[in-house]
Amino acid sequence: MLDVAAQTLGLDEIGAHVHSTDDRRDETGEHQRRVLRRWRRDRERLHARTTWDPEQVAAWQLDRIRMLVETAFATSPFYHRLYADAGYESGALVDWSDYAALPAISKQDIVDDFEAFAWRKPLGAEDVYRSRTSGSTGQALTILQDQAASDAGHVFYLRHYEQLLGRPRREEEWVYEIYLAPNRYSSLDGRFPAFTLSQTCPPALAARHIARVGAPLLWAFPSYLLRMSAEAEDLASVGLEAICTHSESSTREERRQVAARFGAPVLDEYSSEELYLIATECRHGRYHVVEDNVRVDVLGGGKHGEIVGTSLINTYMPFIRYRQGDAIELAGDAAGTCACGSRFTALTSFHGRADQLLRRRDGSVVPPDQVMGLYDRTLLTRDARVEEFRIVQDEQAAIDVLVRPPAGDDHPSPAPLSEFLAGLEELIGDRGCPIAAHVVDAMPSVLSHKRRLITSRYEPSRQESR
Ligand SMILES: [Zn+2]
Repeated sequence: MLDVAAQTLGLDEIGAHVHSTDDRRDETGEHQRRVLRRWRRDRERLHARTTWDPEQVAAWQLDRIRMLVETAFATSPFYHRLYADAGYESGALVDWSDYAALPAISKQDIVDDFEAFAWRKPLGAEDVYRSRTSGSTGQALTILQDQAASDAGHVFYLRHYEQLLGRPRREEEWVYEIYLAPNRYSSLDGRFPAFTLSQTCPPALAARHIARVGAPLLWAFPSYLLRMSAEAEDLASVGLEAICTHSESSTREERRQVAARFGAPVLDEYSSEELYLIATECRHGRYHVVEDNVRVDVLGGGKHGEIVGTSLINTYMPFIRYRQGDAIELAGDAAGTCACGSRFTALTSFHGRADQLLRRRDGSVVPPDQVMGLYDRTLLTRDARVEEFRIVQDEQAAIDVLVRPPAGDDHPSPAPLSEFLAGLEELIGDRGCPIAAHVVDAMPSVLSHKRRLITSRYEPSRQESR
């Protein structure tokens, strides 16, 4: 059986770049069938939700948030203390003004009091799905999701994929992913299969493999797609119908260039481990907030400013009024129905991962997905003993890596840090860009208030290579 699968999928060619089985949680046939059952049952209703009018969305969200806040207040030591200190008492959340008055929380608040935040009684740690994120803050946080939240997140992606395709997805159609880790489910009992390739795979090889698998949909880092566009031939023959970019910022022009090479639309997604799918770009160029997954506001009200979001699906580890750190601008209420059919509100801009680019002295950009892959497997592992880090490139292109170990530790583990520095040196490939690591007790305040993980003050005099 395995040999047949290997031949069919061409694993002989790309095997070195396929992720090993995910050890975060067992993927069982029973779980797969449950998600499949949920998707089949909810699919039509999930699509219909996107056509709800704004009042209906807000009323639905408020009901859900009331339940979430009351449950958190009753069962979570973290939220109970936070809200009680702010004068909250059970039942006090009646309308949106009460919601807006609840304290907002940051990643630092969670890290500082993680035991209280993660404490749950009935479900043991072995029953939950865990993922680790740096987001783009450079601060590691473990996110715990029970299976219900994980399932809900998965069906939101299934809907998202159909929105990208602009048609129903047939059960045998693959989604092809290029990412740091495999998909939560490799298929749903053989239906809706997903294949994940590492970003370490040479792009031309990946293009050939996508064509071989025959996937209509590709989900990938924009920097990887740009490399693919530059290095692989005849991408139109790969046969993709839609491409989705994630995790890094890309410009519309970059996506347009990639789209022209593939002959398929390239649409962006804005998401995080904490809040999952936040906004997705539709085939008509609008970033619709996924309003049945997350409640999005601007901190302090208004349309433009820092995002504060509440996950409407993670009841096990609630993120309520969570300051993710990105700046957003919300579209006006009068937007009406989009040509794609959605009435979900839209973001007219978001800035999170912009400007996080390291450059070589010839002006070329160090591929951000490669940098991300590198710190993901070195600095962000538990063994690394790194609580927070920043990469700073100065005006002369020299790079400082600032590393903060956990409280009580003098130093991070040497091996992962050395591996990170060696990997970065290799990616930059220029001895004229010296790299130095500094262990700090606290991030310099000028950096700690910035969400940016990478800050570059280097502006090459020559034109960028891309
Ligand atoms: Zn739309």
